[in-house]
Amino acid sequence: MFALRSRTLATTMFAFIFSAGLLAAQPSHADDKLPNVMILATGGTIAGTGATSTTTVGYTAAKVGVDRLIEAVPELKKVANVKGEQVFQIASENMTNDHWLKLAKRVNQLLAQPDVDGIVITHGTDTIEETAYFLDLTVHSDKPVVIVGAMRPSTAISADGPINLYNAVTLAGSKDAIGKGVLVSFNDQINAGREVTKTNTSTADTFKTPELGFLGYMQDNAAHFYRLPLRKHTTQSEFDVSSLDSLPQVDIVYGYANNNRIALDAFVAAGAKGIIHAGVGDGSISDAMKPGLIEARQKGVVVVRSSRVGQGIVARNGEANDDQLDFVVSDTLNAQKARILLMLALTKTNDTKAIQQMFYTY
Ligand code: ASP
Repeated sequence: MFALRSRTLATTMFAFIFSAGLLAAQPSHADDKLPNVMILATGGTIAGTGATSTTTVGYTAAKVGVDRLIEAVPELKKVANVKGEQVFQIASENMTNDHWLKLAKRVNQLLAQPDVDGIVITHGTDTIEETAYFLDLTVHSDKPVVIVGAMRPSTAISADGPINLYNAVTLAGSKDAIGKGVLVSFNDQINAGREVTKTNTSTADTFKTPELGFLGYMQDNAAHFYRLPLRKHTTQSEFDVSSLDSLPQVDIVYGYANNNRIALDAFVAAGAKGIIHAGVGDGSISDAMKPGLIEARQKGVVVVRSSRVGQGIVARNGEANDDQLDFVVSDTLNAQKARILLMLALTKTNDTKAIQQMFYTY
């Protein structure tokens, strides 16, 4: 009985200290002159291990814990007071809306603390671009948030994880990164969360912002910026997930030759509130798919025309009469990023004019 009561007391005290924000995020031996950077680990290849040093495919992602990731790069201590937290440990193809909500809430909670100057998130590369955009729209702070990963597992010759992590921590502690939205630091380059995309299945230079270009370089222990993202993000974003425990169902259907509407109908029957159509070319819709999208819209499902091309603006009233069909266009967002914006938009409104405006704003 006594043991039970004292455990309850201890739990209550811990909960009080934690909720009061009195639990220091940084170690007691912290150097006052260095920024305080929290590393939130989520898994991926950066935490992966292979059978041999030459295993660069066929390894297991999400094996190494955050403390070992930090220990493997002692140079981090020269650029920041770092502390790690294992938020989850997954290969990023298993990322879900629930993981994103948990991550966004934790990032917002930490950035509200005066003793946290920036955050690095270690992440599998497959869905980095999605998590980066989700956080770009749901983190409400100017403080730097940098997402990083690796294309080679931690056990490989020339693993890219350590240098990528070092650059990410340097960037997250840099005053130059303040107010620039969520950033992806990889292969000595800095990309904007809204724009970045994975362009190669396996090479270390996979992250790019095709056509519009990356924001800057990480070189010689410093960030060098040359351009800025102009779309609204972070502190200017209207999306607030702090009280949400789920997001509306939005699914993606793909355009291709000999197209059909089977997957679309299944998504709508399963309760999708929004559909992203990754059309061919400028978001064109096949005659086989179009009636399904029209019926979905008549049932109240919001339809967004994106493109499988990956570059360029999907023109409103171009390849479809969006005004007449009451469809939305994705602007330059690829289908997986358009899915994120539509989910967040649907937490606020079902009005397609307002949603279209969001696609031109974020
Ligand atoms: N499948 C891995 C993941 O996204 C690949 C990687 O991290 O590079 O977790």
